Amino acid sequence: MKRREFLLGSAGALAVAGGAAALWMGRTTGPASAANQGMFEVTKTEAEWRSLLTPAQYAVLREEDTERPFTSPLNKEKRAGTFHCAGCDLPLYSSAAKYDSGTGWPSFWEALPDAVGTREDTSLFMVRTECHCRRCGGHLGHIFDDGPPPTGMRHCINGLALAFKPAQA
Ligand SMILES: [Zn+2]
Repeated sequence: MKRREFLLGSAGALAVAGGAAALWMGRTTGPASAANQGMFEVTKTEAEWRSLLTPAQYAVLREEDTERPFTSPLNKEKRAGTFHCAGCDLPLYSSAAKYDSGTGWPSFWEALPDAVGTREDTSLFMVRTECHCRRCGGHLGHIFDDGPPPTGMRHCINGLALAFKPAQA
């Protein structure tokens, strides 16, 4: 009986270890690392990205950092125009889909066609939908299903990952 309990205990420990390994694998096999392995249309070395981006932009786009809420000037950007990828300049979001979600991050109810890619993000012990630039793999933010009509989606995007270009007058 003692021995059986010991074996079950070991199996339980193994299952926990397996789960942790799966979590770890999920972190390292997603497009964030794929971006570093050159699986996107626009690829650069770490040194090239570091020279192109500010340290804060690099942390968000290349290391999936999240900027502090209410820090981006783009929260208050209300002009007509287009929000481009700060990494590769691909147009990602139209001002027509921007709204104030009150979260402190620039929010959109949809991306431009063929602009962003997604993957499941299991970091921070949550399952979230990570969203990145389709062309360079740069991390943008996350997508949630509590947005406004017509899509009901909320693209919660780091302002540091975006470059706003006003529409030509
Ligand atoms: Zn990009």
